[in-house]
Amino acid sequence: MDIEIELLPESERKDLPSSSSLSFGKHLSDHMFLMDYKVDTGWHNARIVPYDNFSLDPASACLHYGQAIFEGLKAYSGKDDKIRLFRAGKNMDRLNHSAWRMCMPQVDKDDLLQAIKTLIQIEKRWVPEANGTSLYVRPFMIATEAFLGVRPAKEYLLSVILSPVGAYYAEGFSPVKIFVTDKYVRAVSGGVGEAKTAGNYAASLMVSEKAKELGFTQVLWLDAAERRYIEEVGTMNIFFLLEDALVTPELSGSILPGITRDSVLRLARGWGLRVEERPITINEVLEKVKNKALKECFGTGTAAVISPVGALYYKGENYPINSGKTGDLAQRLFDEIMGLQYGEREDAYGWMDII
Ligand SMILES: *Cc1c(COP(=O)(O)O)cnc(C)c1O
Repeated sequence: MDIEIELLPESERKDLPSSSSLSFGKHLSDHMFLMDYKVDTGWHNARIVPYDNFSLDPASACLHYGQAIFEGLKAYSGKDDKIRLFRAGKNMDRLNHSAWRMCMPQVDKDDLLQAIKTLIQIEKRWVPEANGTSLYVRPFMIATEAFLGVRPAKEYLLSVILSPVGAYYAEGFSPVKIFVTDKYVRAVSGGVGEAKTAGNYAASLMVSEKAKELGFTQVLWLDAAERRYIEEVGTMNIFFLLEDALVTPELSGSILPGITRDSVLRLARGWGLRVEERPITINEVLEKVKNKALKECFGTGTAAVISPVGALYYKGENYPINSGKTGDLAQRLFDEIMGLQYGEREDAYGWMDII
């Protein structure tokens, strides 16, 4: 794929934020990738241009009917000064799966990877170097056709923007308190829960805000039909260490298939742990908290990698897990995955891509 490149004059480029001021998604780099799609011509006009506002027709389909999908991955700067991506091909596959579900066009996986790598190379100085920091890569696609009827749009825009992000655990691991909701749901069986599509996140905001007001970090979602089966937590997949088995809900269609989830499963199996992907109810979990069979609980996702859960709150009762401390398995998985991402551990699975 040919990418036309228009660079911002050096004098107009932004000052880099200091590594201590980085949080998540606040700063954006100097350039972005864009590519257009029309049903008749396919993807065309691939370009890297100075970061700027879009111009959209007010009737653009994405603004009305939610044809909008995204991905999230990170570029890591190693001590060897190499920049790495972690399993980026999986993100491209998932973008295409989301696109399929939302009636949006497929993207050539290699073309998009090439675009992301080219953009990161141009924006090299934006990849922060301090421990645990990274450059967040946000590919996304929106329907741009100006048409108010309800049907799949015939025109789309694909973009990639970059944002330097701080270390998730600048002050060390701190297990989070989770609010289990049995009143609201994130996604339904047969719906769009397995797609990284904008509306899923809008749907989750109200309960997240409520949980925060009550002093909880995240919401744990149960299945929509019975409000019994555990789905996921916030924007993370969830794992339980029950006795000596690592258990996570199976991918049922309403759960987002996390790449960190898949990595944890593969690492744990490789270490010889018993691993189960199966339906698991909130009652089973709480029962096992009570009789001390639940050793650990943690969330998994690109942002935090591993997020230990210190307590679950359900129907007015608080259930502390592992005395609110980080478990050994959570720590081991975190160290292994971070070690791979920063090029400090042997990449036995071939997950890393050096830019
Ligand atoms: C992105 C996301 C995840 C985690 O996926 P990773 O590929 O591990 O980052 C989990 N749940 C939801 C709802 C998500 O949006």
